[in-house]
Amino acid sequence: MNWDNALLRYARPVPRYTSYPTATQFTGAIGPSHYARWLASLEGQSLSLYIHVPFCQALCWFCGCTTTVAKSAAVSVAYASLLVEEISRVAFAIGGAGAVRHIHWGGGTPTQLGISSLRRVLERVRARFDVSDDAEVAIELDPRTLTRETIEALPGLGFNRVSLGVQDVDPAVQTAINRIQPIAFVREAASCLRDNGISWINVDLMVGLPRQTEGSVRRSAAATIEALRPSRVAIFSYAHMPWLKRHQRLIDASALPGPRERLSQALAAAEVLEAMGYLPLGLDHFALPGDRLELASKTGKLRRNFQGYTDDTAAVLLGIGASAIGSLPSGYVQNESRVVDYRRAIERGGFAIARGIALDDDDRVRRDIIERLMCDLRVDLDDTARRWNVDRASFDDDIAALGPLVDDGLVRLSGRRVEVDPSARSLVRSVAATFDRYLSPAPMHHFPEFLHRAEHSAERGPSSGGPSGAMARDGG
Ligand code: SF4
Repeated sequence: MNWDNALLRYARPVPRYTSYPTATQFTGAIGPSHYARWLASLEGQSLSLYIHVPFCQALCWFCGCTTTVAKSAAVSVAYASLLVEEISRVAFAIGGAGAVRHIHWGGGTPTQLGISSLRRVLERVRARFDVSDDAEVAIELDPRTLTRETIEALPGLGFNRVSLGVQDVDPAVQTAINRIQPIAFVREAASCLRDNGISWINVDLMVGLPRQTEGSVRRSAAATIEALRPSRVAIFSYAHMPWLKRHQRLIDASALPGPRERLSQALAAAEVLEAMGYLPLGLDHFALPGDRLELASKTGKLRRNFQGYTDDTAAVLLGIGASAIGSLPSGYVQNESRVVDYRRAIERGGFAIARGIALDDDDRVRRDIIERLMCDLRVDLDDTARRWNVDRASFDDDIAALGPLVDDGLVRLSGRRVEVDPSARSLVRSVAATFDRYLSPAPMHHFPEFLHRAEHSAERGPSSGGPSGAMARDGG
């Protein structure tokens, strides 16, 4: 069997499953009053925070994040005041929250707030929540706007992990996406971060960008690893959606690789990373042996959330800031996406929730199945049925739908244990989609025409930062 043909044949227009149900299922039926009730039931629970900063110095043409060009420093300072207010309000609604184990700043480019505003917001977090001494405090960084002063200030603010957006080191590709960033410059930033005690460095790479070829992607991946030796790497596939992201119209669509080329680029990048000592995790992440993600993966504790892959085991993720998504035991919530709407809601004295979804029992069971597939490439449905106390026959139709993949050797079925062949990991979303009750059933055959536009769904896309970057991303 031609493996590439098989992978292309089964590619489907499916989500990336950074949540289940996915953000496309969120509706305005869930609002601030639901959020207030859901928060009130969280007392004592450990939690994590995602703080979104929707500002950048300039827009990269490929970007799918919720961000705009910052108009002035005053706008950033005013936005920080809103974050501070929201943090206090959320903490008050919870009552006595448990320990905070992860704080992630994403965007946009969080450092656009300026060090004093970052400090102000983090001081409020620490004043209102019990932040564990060993908490991971991460931030997405745009190497182009990073100064030595900023880097030197980060450890003092408690940051211990950073995500650097690299995407591609080829000058022709960088020109085609409006992100000129010499690798020597990024190397210097990484070295300065390490000199200042921040050794946990994540990097984003991309495939499917204009002017990329399989060869250029190989060279770019190798040069990035040689220069930076990050602990984690994520390889994202560019999604060209100019109807959703107007600035993507600036990209020359005729220079974009087709579905087959994109697949070979992704496989080539993975091959380079593995040859350079990285271990593949889930759909598109790689980690050095001994990294916390790799250890979580080994022990079956890898998790999937809006930050991509994580070792965070907290049951609650609070989203702070415009467009931020929160994940609570009762459901998902998302803040107003536009800063102006977010500001109005916070200034009115309430929460800024614009949409969300309440989870029912079936959602929770299927979320568990989909998360295990996306993290481990396998799931034991009998074990799932036992743990959730549901009829094992509930999954009969889902198993039957996997038939063609099983026949082609891409998925193994032993009893009710489903396992995706590691060489077919790019298809894990399609396998997970089989268990998604919100998707209309689609036969498992011939979807190559969708591959190009289906790579990113509603939840995720590269930002200034890296794989743990995340996520209140609208288009990607
Ligand atoms: S890729 Fe990063 S730096 Fe570029 S526009 Fe998007 S969020 Fe901003």
